[in-house]
Amino acid sequence: MVYQRSSALFQEAQTVIPGGVNSPVRAFKAVGGTPIFVEKAKGAYLYDVDGNQLIDYINSWGPMILGHAHVPVVNAVIEKAQKGTSFGMPTEIETDIAALAVRMVPGIEKIRFVNSGTEACMSAVRLARGYTGKDKIIKFAGCYHGHSDSFLIQAGSGAVTFGTPNSPGVTKGTAKDTLLATYNDLENVAQLIQDNKDEIACIILEPVAGNMGCIPPADRFLQGLRTLCDANNILLIFDEVMTGFRLAKGGAQELYNVNADIVTFGKVIGGGLPVGAFAARAEIMNHLAPLGPVYQAGTLSGNPLAMAAGLAMLTELNSNAEVFDSLEKKTAYLHKGLREVMVKNGVAHTINRVGSMLSIHFSEAPVVDFKTAAHASGENFKLFFHGMLQEGVYIAPSAYETWFLCDALTYLDLDKTIEAANSVAQKLA
Ligand SMILES: *Cc1c(COP(=O)(O)O)cnc(C)c1O
Repeated sequence: MVYQRSSALFQEAQTVIPGGVNSPVRAFKAVGGTPIFVEKAKGAYLYDVDGNQLIDYINSWGPMILGHAHVPVVNAVIEKAQKGTSFGMPTEIETDIAALAVRMVPGIEKIRFVNSGTEACMSAVRLARGYTGKDKIIKFAGCYHGHSDSFLIQAGSGAVTFGTPNSPGVTKGTAKDTLLATYNDLENVAQLIQDNKDEIACIILEPVAGNMGCIPPADRFLQGLRTLCDANNILLIFDEVMTGFRLAKGGAQELYNVNADIVTFGKVIGGGLPVGAFAARAEIMNHLAPLGPVYQAGTLSGNPLAMAAGLAMLTELNSNAEVFDSLEKKTAYLHKGLREVMVKNGVAHTINRVGSMLSIHFSEAPVVDFKTAAHASGENFKLFFHGMLQEGVYIAPSAYETWFLCDALTYLDLDKTIEAANSVAQKLA
């Protein structure tokens, strides 16, 4: 495949946009080469500016769970746009999507909409601090909660990819209130709580980690955190920006049968438009302005186009619950195929998967936390990434990202992907 026009557009972009991109991981820095510029997308396929067709395993980093340009979502946006695109005043559709989300997700009574996952997590932590009257938070190395200051302490994803886990610009004062724990290590968390008695407002985590590749929670890990939080007057925040409305209607809370105190959303909840949200039981949410003293606001929050896309998406998922089952089966099929190919070609690998999230780490050792994820071979990942791209399969350009399947993928697409992986695996060490 040739990526001539993409290269030219990237050169041009770099003259007026830092690094040529509006979000760092798009720049291919971790894998080398130049990013692909998209012309359009439909279903499971991307079409780039050079006329190449690619099978898409990123799906906009998660939102397009039903495939690109899904007709009910597109129609809902077009219809809304004709009536005006923003008012900064209340609209009925905000209540409609809020009511549906509250019905679908366990344990939440009220929800507030924002414009990104970053905003959702930032606001959730402020709410937790305001509610508990405590300052410190616990986050896990390798978990990503957006780019707000308190989270840029060993964040996963792009922040790790670029080797700047502690970004300049984050003050020492902010960093000292973020305590770092090891994912899947309950004892480590218990010790941190012990050492910071009565100072911790919340524990925030991805209930299934997806920003150091995919890492499932160990048996009893989430339950253990719930117990620790209850015993120490700490709020448990599940960052379900990635897992929400993807792993099940009710996200990871439903899948693992553990309830968080505050849940954050993004990605799928916006159906591909810029939406984030955070939710909790009413008693906690009532601390937010204008009801309570914890301030949070947004000129474009609850934007009608964004709400129309989100409502259409959630309505589809709520009325076709078999989607989650279908995605589970497709991803399990891909998992099995990829594993067989790696084994056959003698490539050291670990494939982690939960529902429609999957990742390959080129390491034989189990990948259970950030340290074990970082131990995998970056060289093999680069070769694999570019090999797959040449075969017409687009996976995330970083070993610290997860594959997100969409239900528009057919078994033929999956077979092609497995075949491509077989050709590429032959060239790996
Ligand atoms: C993507 C992501 C975020 C940030 O969301 P943005 O919309 O990119 O700001 C936060 N948390 C998790 C788990 C994510 O995957």
